[in-house]
Amino acid sequence: MTKKLLQDAARERPLLCDGAMGTQLMIAGLEQGNCGEAWNLAHPERVVAIQRRYVEAGADCIITNTFGGCRIMLNRHFEAEHGVAINKAGVALAREAFGNKHGYVLGDIGPFGGLLEPYGDFTEAQVRSAFEEQAAALVEAGADAIIIETQTSLEELLIGIQSARAANAPCIIGSMAYDVTLDGSTFRTMMGIEPERAAEFMEKHGAHIVALNCGTRMDMARALSAVERYRSVTSLPVMVQPNAGQPRLVNMKVVYDETPEEMAAGLLPLLEAGANIVGACCGSTPEHIRAFRTVMDEFIERKGLVPERSRA
Ligand SMILES: [Zn+2]
Repeated sequence: MTKKLLQDAARERPLLCDGAMGTQLMIAGLEQGNCGEAWNLAHPERVVAIQRRYVEAGADCIITNTFGGCRIMLNRHFEAEHGVAINKAGVALAREAFGNKHGYVLGDIGPFGGLLEPYGDFTEAQVRSAFEEQAAALVEAGADAIIIETQTSLEELLIGIQSARAANAPCIIGSMAYDVTLDGSTFRTMMGIEPERAAEFMEKHGAHIVALNCGTRMDMARALSAVERYRSVTSLPVMVQPNAGQPRLVNMKVVYDETPEEMAAGLLPLLEAGANIVGACCGSTPEHIRAFRTVMDEFIERKGLVPERSRA
């Protein structure tokens, strides 16, 4: 049986994505400032162990451990020459985490970590070359989708979408990071982009799924508002991955406070509003995803939909 495209499967029933990778790598021993993506080659068993816990918690989609895997990011850790291998291994590990279960591997492209000219030092050609190399490696290794994550500027997002298209990615997800404004009245990206504009832009340039992840003070209620705002301008599937609350520094450690129960309490309104893929970002754990699974399964059953996991 040919596998259904992610964007088609997501229209039939909501799908569950995974939770945080970065904070889980820290728990597994990665030191702050070190290259988590290099673990795809150096400590693959630790990466798979984290992703396997998300699969066991009920995730339908696993995002590869390649967030900082473009050569500009890797170059800061002197790992750029291993870029292609790191990205290909990232896909293989996520696939391995599913075992013989059916599931979607989402190849992750995070920000390149700088600013484009004229604000910063990087030329469009440099970023394009880095994203094209990463997207090609992820697709060649068999990723079911490319997710261009934690984006704040339309310029960088566009380079990501175009790179995924050049690599013939079967599904392209554009995911923005919004910050709630100081007065709490709305949210936009650091570069001032509002969700309606982002969604229209993504659709126009060929993304298949519009998304949000991470951000500042973007809790489940704000994510609901974002889904409604996306829905007002596009019929593309919508994906959301909020953080597990706001990070706090406790004894020099970053702590996220929102419990699985607290986050899961906000999930049903999101699903009712038409969110097609829901996962969680920084600070979330397999327990958060397990709590989501329970709510999502009840929703799927009540609506008379066919659960993804019962398919061959
Ligand atoms: Zn995050």
